[in-house]
Amino acid sequence: MVDVGGVKIGGGNFAVIAGPCSVESEAQICEVAADVKASGAKLLRGGAFKPRTSPYSFQGMRGEGIKLLLEAKAKTGLPIVTEIMDISQLPLFDEVDLIQVGARNMQNFELLKELGHTRKPILLKRGLASTIEELLMSAEYIMAGGNSQVILCERGIRTFETCTRNTLDISAVPVLHELTHLPVIVDPSHACGIARLVEPMAMAAAACGANGVMIEVHNNPAKALCDGPQSLTPAQFDETVKKVKRVYAAATEQ
Ligand code: PEP
Ligand code: MN
Repeated sequence: MVDVGGVKIGGGNFAVIAGPCSVESEAQICEVAADVKASGAKLLRGGAFKPRTSPYSFQGMRGEGIKLLLEAKAKTGLPIVTEIMDISQLPLFDEVDLIQVGARNMQNFELLKELGHTRKPILLKRGLASTIEELLMSAEYIMAGGNSQVILCERGIRTFETCTRNTLDISAVPVLHELTHLPVIVDPSHACGIARLVEPMAMAAAACGANGVMIEVHNNPAKALCDGPQSLTPAQFDETVKKVKRVYAAATEQ
């Protein structure tokens, strides 16, 4: 079990993490934070440093984005999770509750080693084309440095399928539970890339033993600077959380 600013992830708890792909403005992040909290989210997500395929796409608000996340945290009490892309950014993450290592950095071994020397909880996302074994070895890089607070995240992998952004490897959840004691969460948003598929895949995660889900929510998905097509509105998120909780209760019923 990993304690993230008082929120326990793993063990018998099911954690809902939500927020926009990227922090875009004070109003945007604070509004979404209040909305997702009201629907039952326990952690606020939001990218400040964004790994974008094109260098001409919005790259994130960087340090300013982290400040806005901290403001949203102060207003709502929700601990925050945001992605680090380079070791040089680490000083900006002092007050970040959960540091995300994104799919594209899962095998940035120098970054993983450095994070192993911190005592911060780390959310390690599976690489775009990484095996479960490779994901576990990356977690090992962090833990070998003495930092045992690692949460794993299945976020879909590259396959030949083109109907979805990635292919959610849902079987990774029970396989990881067999191979490791670490908590495992599922990110259905990046796995599918399509908002209407997020709810059924989040329910599948709750049914198969995931310790939580991370879902992208935007107050105006059509205008989002990043990942609008896969973002839920706050109202859609509210519905999804209700269904996910029902599935989790049924799946864990004694
Ligand atoms: C994200 O969570 O914002 C993200 C970029 O995800 P991934 O690294 O899984 O693509
Ligand atoms: Mn995103």
